[in-house]
Amino acid sequence: MSSASRNSASRNSASGTTVPGTAAVEPDRAVTGRPGAPHPLVDRYGRVHTDLRVSLTDRCNLRCTYCMPAEGLDWLPRAEVLSDDEVVRLVRIAVRRLGITSVRLTGGEPLLRRGLPALVGRIAELGAEVSLTTNGIGLARTAEALRAAGLHRVNVSLDTLSPERYAALTRRDRLADVLAGLAAAHAAGLAPVKVNAVPVRGVNDDELAELLGFAVRHGYRMRFIESMPLDAQGAWDRERMVTADEILARLGERFDLHPVGRSGNAPAEEWRIAGTDAVVGVIASVTRPFCGGCDRVRLTADGQLRNCLFATEESDLRALLRDGADDDRVEAAWRATIARKGPGHAIGGADFVRPARPMSAIGG
Ligand code: SAM
Ligand code: SF4
Repeated sequence: MSSASRNSASRNSASGTTVPGTAAVEPDRAVTGRPGAPHPLVDRYGRVHTDLRVSLTDRCNLRCTYCMPAEGLDWLPRAEVLSDDEVVRLVRIAVRRLGITSVRLTGGEPLLRRGLPALVGRIAELGAEVSLTTNGIGLARTAEALRAAGLHRVNVSLDTLSPERYAALTRRDRLADVLAGLAAAHAAGLAPVKVNAVPVRGVNDDELAELLGFAVRHGYRMRFIESMPLDAQGAWDRERMVTADEILARLGERFDLHPVGRSGNAPAEEWRIAGTDAVVGVIASVTRPFCGGCDRVRLTADGQLRNCLFATEESDLRALLRDGADDDRVEAAWRATIARKGPGHAIGGADFVRPARPMSAIGG
């Protein structure tokens, strides 16, 4: 592609209009090897991708019922997991060449990754904003080091405030560790500390207002996430999902909520609690999909690039790295993956196919 056509694509994407012909970008014709500003990662619907989710491991120290079975989930062999150098190289290509500005580290449980603060430091040096999604176990002793290494923000998953329920829902008795982790993240200035909860019918759906009250009291930002058909055991059932409407109805019993909309391409729709600065977010991937504004691309712990959480195909960047591919080839493969991105997922539709990988192996 000539530099003139690159500039033209860039102008189009900045205006938010679709970019005719972007889908025709082919691996061996993609922009390669030039110095200077990154060229945006635009798909054929004009969506500019600036947000990279990197899974650092598929392992976890919890077994949340909506995510994993109690037993029997095989972990990736260690040799298949990207090394720190491989992760940093791919993130460097993403930031320097593709215009990625935000990198979220996730898993499995990313705090299980050995040497995480050093890896965070190397990624932060590349100039992207670095954030972390974690179950919070171990955060109490690592929050300061992560902040010092350059971590900007943290999302902590917490679905209940009851120790008994927590133990049943995650199959581990670790609520106190999570609460300590949240407090440490807040004290370390990893602001805003967001709390993610997945409501499950008959398990914690009577506790949503209590969770929001807890978050407001502590200065955390509460977000509720509709459960998605991405559990490893394939037990998701739409009837058992607690919808955004139900979540808002439950919260409305205790709080006076005013809609503030969505900030940018963020997946969460937000509501402000009347008379306060506190906001609560609802991520309604199933009942109110936000695919039209999607700016995300995902890298699994074993180096597979995915253009969607629900993608059924992946690009093997690890194989490219380990075959000695140069950055131009990796960049071309990356652009080709985004060029193939579809308009959106079809959960509930006749065409919907569950991805083979569960959430814990993709990176939520
Ligand atoms: N272990 C970390 C944690 O729990 O935050 C990071 C990985 S976890 C897969 C990322 C997020 O995905 C968490 O907020 C979790 O609640 C959410 N999640 C897991 N399974 C889900 C499902 N089936 N539907 C919706 N969200 C899910
Ligand atoms: Fe682990 Fe996070 Fe899945 Fe829970 S949601 S089992 S903490 S990966």
